[in-house]
Amino acid sequence: MKASAFAYARATSVANALELLSTHGEKAKVLSGGQSLLPAMNLRLIAPELVVDIGELAELRGIAVEGNILTIGALTRHADLLRSPEIAAHAPLLKQAVAHVAHAAIRNRGTIGGSLAQADPASELPACMLALGATIIVRGTSGERRIAATEFFTGIYETVLAPQELLVAVELPVTPENSMHFFHEFARRRGDYAIVGLAAQAVVMNGRFADLRLGFFAVGDRPLLAKSAGKLVDVAITPAVLAEAASALHDELEPMEDQQATPAMRRHLARVLLMRCVSSLLARPGLCAEAST
Ligand SMILES: Cc1cc2nc3c(=O)[nH]c(=O)nc-3n(C[C@H](O)[C@H](O)[C@H](O)COP(=O)(O)OP(=O)(O)OC[C@H]3O[C@@H](n4cnc5c(N)ncnc54)[C@H](O)[C@@H]3O)c2cc1C
Repeated sequence: MKASAFAYARATSVANALELLSTHGEKAKVLSGGQSLLPAMNLRLIAPELVVDIGELAELRGIAVEGNILTIGALTRHADLLRSPEIAAHAPLLKQAVAHVAHAAIRNRGTIGGSLAQADPASELPACMLALGATIIVRGTSGERRIAATEFFTGIYETVLAPQELLVAVELPVTPENSMHFFHEFARRRGDYAIVGLAAQAVVMNGRFADLRLGFFAVGDRPLLAKSAGKLVDVAITPAVLAEAASALHDELEPMEDQQATPAMRRHLARVLLMRCVSSLLARPGLCAEAST
């Protein structure tokens, strides 16, 4: 199928893009890497009257570290994240996760801004933003908004972005030296969207979690920063404590049914990921089995 007829404008600056978006409102759509927008247009799931191509705006691309803040421009491609020494050093969770986003051809075009604006609940990067405590920066004609990642995603393919706004960058706190991460997803094939996944960031001290942020994806209509992680912080992790956290996680998940899995299967996989994550971060391989008995 081919997309419905549409007008095309290549933005010459951020200000120009915002002007176009402000004039055309909901009838316009931003084009970044096009890896989600163009398939949706070709399938006629959406039919914007105007496509505003921001792909040439170099000011929106790049990765920089200043003090304790890692800033990633919205147009930074998945492939750039994979290759970046700054990401490897300061946000290794992101590097590991992005390797699971689609395939090389898509990672060469797709961008972090596009992925976050798309807000697919089975996407890896939104969950990483929750685990890493990201701030998402958006700009409109009346100025800039800084939005905590926990407030950004509001539903399936839904965010707090207004049609007239551009996502311009993401800020991440540089991960502390003693922090650790865990990433795993269940997918039918490497590169497929996840059936269930977990991106986690933690600080472990003396065999206990001083901090633990669990970003689950494909477990509901948006990525989830699991509150049940609180049950594992500042306590000795025994099989009973872990089982209690798994039960609390069960209560906060709202998984959906689709061709890939039932809600029960998703709950089960999320529990498995929680167990594996905790035993891996604490380097206690036997913990999983003990907590499941
Ligand atoms: C076969 C296939 C498999 C895939 N598998 C995965 C996967 O496993 N995991 C995964 O996470 N993704 C996957 N993707 C999606 C891919 O990662 C896309 O790159 C990503 O979803 C969107 O990035 P993009 O730059 O291409 O955005 P686009 O397609 O250009 O835009 C996506 C949406 O975001 C809006 N948008 C884009 N940039 C901005 C901005 N700066 N400000 C405001 N709005 C903006 C657009 O208007 C559009 O609504 C897959 C895609 C394909 C085709």
